Amino acid sequence: MVKAINKALKESSEHHEHSAFENTDVPFSELLNAHARAQEDLQRLSSADDAVLSNAKLLYTIINQISDLVFAKDTNGRILVGSEAMARYYGLESAQELYGKTIFDLRGDDEARRIHDIEQEIMAGGEPMSDVDEEFIDASGDTKWIQISKVPLKDDNGKVIGLIGIAKDITERKHNECALEAERVLFRAMIDQVPDYLFVKDTESRFVITNRALAADLGRIPSDLIGKTDFAFHEEKIAGKFYADEQEIVNSGEALINLEEMVVDFTGAEKWFSASKVPLRDEHGEIIGIVGVCRDITDRKDSEERLHFMAMHDALTHLPNRTLLVDRLEQGIKQKERSGGELTVLFIDLDNFKIVNDSLGHDAGDTLIKAVADRLIASVRSSDTVARLGGDEFVILLIDQDNPISDIAPIIERLRVSIAEPFIIEGQKFQVTCSIGGATFPADGTDTTTLLKNADIAMYKAKDGGRDNVVFYSSLKNA
Ligand code: GH3
Ligand code: MG
Repeated sequence: MVKAINKALKESSEHHEHSAFENTDVPFSELLNAHARAQEDLQRLSSADDAVLSNAKLLYTIINQISDLVFAKDTNGRILVGSEAMARYYGLESAQELYGKTIFDLRGDDEARRIHDIEQEIMAGGEPMSDVDEEFIDASGDTKWIQISKVPLKDDNGKVIGLIGIAKDITERKHNECALEAERVLFRAMIDQVPDYLFVKDTESRFVITNRALAADLGRIPSDLIGKTDFAFHEEKIAGKFYADEQEIVNSGEALINLEEMVVDFTGAEKWFSASKVPLRDEHGEIIGIVGVCRDITDRKDSEERLHFMAMHDALTHLPNRTLLVDRLEQGIKQKERSGGELTVLFIDLDNFKIVNDSLGHDAGDTLIKAVADRLIASVRSSDTVARLGGDEFVILLIDQDNPISDIAPIIERLRVSIAEPFIIEGQKFQVTCSIGGATFPADGTDTTTLLKNADIAMYKAKDGGRDNVVFYSSLKNA
């Protein structure tokens, strides 16, 4: 048996002298080169040594020194030579036991058939197979991975006379790859399950990693965003703000924490985020990008806005309340102080409103107050302010009155006519009148308190005069 292996190896090494392996990169050809060099060295040895160290034995020794699986087969798939490492893989005591075996003696039928067919194809086509990963269960039941290359073995005439192969154990590398893949899958699941926006961008603000929450609000999946900037998804103004902030981080190296940012999602809805962006540095401390976390604060923003609105508006009519009226009046006075001109404050109180409350109830009274509010708004310009101070008392702030008497008279007439139109409340017709008191800046006061007080005084004079009446504070002064 040993003689036969030696013969086969000798033939293999002789083939190497010529063309069979010249066009292949497989490490086995290096082995054969080593073997050829060893042969030359051996020729320089004494004949006694020569007898001890045959070419084949040396080659065999070399093959067995390496941890890779090395083998040569004939055209029927019978093993001519195999390394010790290969024998160990198949749970055999020694490499000699491989001799004459086929893959059907070593592997299960299906697997053996598959390998056999591949090898027959290589030999039929004469084409090598390079670095193919294969999984198999070794003799001790462990899962192993090998990376295998096979080349046809040719004689001097280029005729295929078998196949040689070399396989490297890549089990550890595969395990590392699997561990990395498991880590990647876990990382992906982790960032995709976070409801906040998470992203990494490069120094040009191009997305490198994003999570599902961010992509979903753009109507995309994370991979759609990679390599793109916010300009691809948001209008210029929004994307420009993000870009400017991020470039500031890249240039300064300073993080931006809890920025309040607004984005418009793919449905057109506005969303508010508290965004924190920090520079991403490599192991040398160089900034290589930006890491961002953005938390949706739309609900908080909405309730803040609601609270702010409620602090400035009347709950029943949603008209500006006294606070907002005073603020607008202050602004109006400042403007008139700069530009000259006048502004007028009108106090309007419904006449005998209590009758509505008493006869139809408080809810009907509320309905009437809201209806009056709507009519007052409709009677003035949008730049004027209609406020409700409470009860049935409204204030209108008329700005840009160049000439109070001529300009205001038609406005007041319009207000009175619109309120005098009957209201239908709970199926009942109501006719309502109001008393109006007016005070004008600067003649009747130059500050908010005085103007409001004097308009109120004028309104009470209108009530005293029998209601459904208009009185200007200026007329009281002159009386
Ligand atoms: P006057 O002609 O003197 O103005 O008499 P009036 O009946 O209109 O009474 P007055 O303006 O002095 O008081 C307004 C009343 O409006 C007092 C209160 O009972 C009622 N009122 C105050 N706030 C509300 C409200 O939010 N809803 C309703 N339905 N009634 C209110
Ligand atoms: Mg009243």
